[in-house]
Amino acid sequence: MSPLPAPGGPSLPAPRADLAMREGYHSAQVGAEVRLNTNESPYPPPPEWQAELLAEMAGIAWNRYPERAARALREAIADLHGVRPGQVFAANGSNEVLQALCLAYGGPGRRALTFEPTYALHAHIAHLTGTAVVQAERAGDFRLDPAAAAAAVSGVRPAVTFLCSPNNPTGLVEDPETVEAVLRAGPGILVVDEAYGQFAATSALGLVGDATPLVVCRTFSKTWSLAALRLGYAVAPGEVVGMLERVALPYHLDAVKQAAGRLALRHRQAMEQRVAGLVAERERLVAAMAALPVRVWPSQANFVLFRPEGRAGLDVWKALVERSVLVRDTSSWPGLDGCLRVTVGTPAEDDRFLAALAEVLT
Ligand SMILES: *Cc1c(COP(=O)(O)O)cnc(C)c1O
Repeated sequence: MSPLPAPGGPSLPAPRADLAMREGYHSAQVGAEVRLNTNESPYPPPPEWQAELLAEMAGIAWNRYPERAARALREAIADLHGVRPGQVFAANGSNEVLQALCLAYGGPGRRALTFEPTYALHAHIAHLTGTAVVQAERAGDFRLDPAAAAAAVSGVRPAVTFLCSPNNPTGLVEDPETVEAVLRAGPGILVVDEAYGQFAATSALGLVGDATPLVVCRTFSKTWSLAALRLGYAVAPGEVVGMLERVALPYHLDAVKQAAGRLALRHRQAMEQRVAGLVAERERLVAAMAALPVRVWPSQANFVLFRPEGRAGLDVWKALVERSVLVRDTSSWPGLDGCLRVTVGTPAEDDRFLAALAEVLT
């Protein structure tokens, strides 16, 4: 028997070469009194939901694996959207949905297409699954016109195309014509990430059907005030859901999460009230920012992209952190020179942000 490697001997094996240059995806978890950097809801879910969940947990058979198909949860989500449970795939955050999509439809020898700037995890997750990523550019105003989108799809012939509506980090919604143009240009699956869907007036959900290569992703992390839960889902053709189930790990949705998500959907009205309140607060925030030396992009989400005039984005970000206000530094992201992104918080939090920004800029 050969001896184990000795200290100072051969080192650990090299990981996949295509991962060597990639960094993980993390937002700063800096201590700050006002945290407006990750687009969470500033409001907790209803206390009734918490009581219902605790009661339900008393009945969980902890020694048994959870119900594998998460049937009750998927039925509740299907009811919400008027689709069949077989058209719903749930996972640990919509990020896991995106990963399952790339595992099932991407992979070596296949391409994914993104329109930058957009949610960095689309390209990141595609890379991790060995999918080649082609990053097309949006116009200078961050809009994507239907003809440009269709031309990119026809040229790249991606296995998976990502759109994000409202788009993180710009806050702009995708025109329905753009979604339809991409679907018509085919081939491949179109993924529309609607993590902020309930904040906006339009949705691609109405286009989902068994014969349409369209997947719409949603999450409990933002509008449902449940970022800690890690639950998201896709509404998709039944055949696609079957493929996503095939690549998911067995029992990937634990029993608590299944119950928590199902019970949360009983409180839809409370969710809609929170969303309406945040939309009104967003408009107040945008109106107040108009008085400051910043460019602001119109947003249909719970965050606002802005660019301080004549000041480096990173300097402004640091000056805000010094005032215990944390926003997202997007200033070094491709196409977002000098921009920062602020999440809509409570009126008190937003006032702190506005006061700090005014102090820093004037
Ligand atoms: C926040 C966010 C998500 C949410 O991911 P989860 O894994 O569900 O928390 C997905 N897509 C976009 C564009 C987001 O901004």
